[in-house]
Amino acid sequence: MAVPFRRVSKMKKRMRRSHLALSVPGMITCPNCGELTLAHRVCSNCGFYKGKQVVTSKASSDEE
Ligand SMILES: [Zn+2]
Repeated sequence: MAVPFRRVSKMKKRMRRSHLALSVPGMITCPNCGELTLAHRVCSNCGFYKGKQVVTSKASSDEE
């Protein structure tokens, strides 16, 4: 409900905004190339996941 902002106390405003914090996504260092990647995702740098080459990229084309 819309309320004039002077009517809302500092405590009420802060209590409401206590749920607005952003969270950092879970990041891991890739065991293959050491790059920071999102956990449970294919590494965007080398294309490895679970110790296997899943996606072939230009950066790691030295294997074929
Ligand atoms: Zn990697």
